[in-house]
Amino acid sequence: MQLLDGKFVSEKIKQDIAVEAADFLSETGRKPHLVAILVGNDGGSETYVASKMKNCEKVGFQSSLIRYDLTATEEELLGKVREINQDPGVDGLIVQLPLPKHIDPEKVTEAIDHRKDVDGFHPVNLGRMMRNLPCFIPATPYGIMLMLEAYQIDTTGKHCVVVGRSNIVGSPMSILMARNATPGNCTVSLTHSRTANLKDMTLQGDIIIAAIGKKNFITADMVKPGAIVIDVGMNRETSTQTKSGYKLYGDVDFNNVAPISSWITPVPGGVGLMTIIGLLKNTLASAKKEIYK
Ligand code: NDP
Repeated sequence: MQLLDGKFVSEKIKQDIAVEAADFLSETGRKPHLVAILVGNDGGSETYVASKMKNCEKVGFQSSLIRYDLTATEEELLGKVREINQDPGVDGLIVQLPLPKHIDPEKVTEAIDHRKDVDGFHPVNLGRMMRNLPCFIPATPYGIMLMLEAYQIDTTGKHCVVVGRSNIVGSPMSILMARNATPGNCTVSLTHSRTANLKDMTLQGDIIIAAIGKKNFITADMVKPGAIVIDVGMNRETSTQTKSGYKLYGDVDFNNVAPISSWITPVPGGVGLMTIIGLLKNTLASAKKEIYK
């Protein structure tokens, strides 16, 4: 078993991003700028946004966090999104999900100018990705592709079984793995909660990508020996043993799956760190107008 080490790869890519950000600053007199909107104070969301902001600073980006409390209205939020859309000093805008129930995430996602949609959730970016056109690729799938690329994992002709079909991870992941590109060129099975005999499917996977949201869901008996296993899961549990007061678990039973896999991502230290890289790369590409002129 070999580790797909998100810490190692993300640090290396961050160094390259920092060099490009410094060049951008000397050419334009400003830093690439990411704005995040956070509604409420959900523990997980607070942690993820704080980490995104901190990493922006590390690579020499400007970052701004706009906070709303849980009573914020949909109209208030949409108004702010429209205002930021018009601001030439902002390159990327993300609205941290989940949103409170009275705010429709689809409306908010579609309100973001697709040219600033560095999370890659807007239908224009998803549609362009589907057609293999330049676009912002959703940050988590993008990070996974960068990880596979960094380790030169040969994916061509492999059977990739994606477990989970969310709009932000599983579905775009399945499209990327099936694309005529490197990494890519897989035969893909996209599975979900209604899949019959899930274990029969996962056992066929040369590559398994687990994005379910259930701690240790993929067990060793579901994995073909030698498979490449990518664990997207971030399941938080309170813990008295950590400084932060919680512990993260993946969707894969790492201790038992790792010995039979060829490559595997740890949690933490795997996909989560690469997601931030996806976001930083999209923000830089937006600032440099590499995707949309
Ligand atoms: P969603 O809840 O949106 O989607 C979960 C998917 O898993 C759904 O498609 C669901 O199927 C499927 N599923 C649920 N139960 C089963 C089951 N018993 N058998 C097969 N499939 C099942 O989650 P996300 O995609 O947003 O996130 C998944 C995980 O990844 C979470 O732990 C999340 O925290 C983490 N995550 C990590 C990120 C990172 O940076 N590392 C970024 C984003 C998410 P159905 O559609 O039928 O309901």
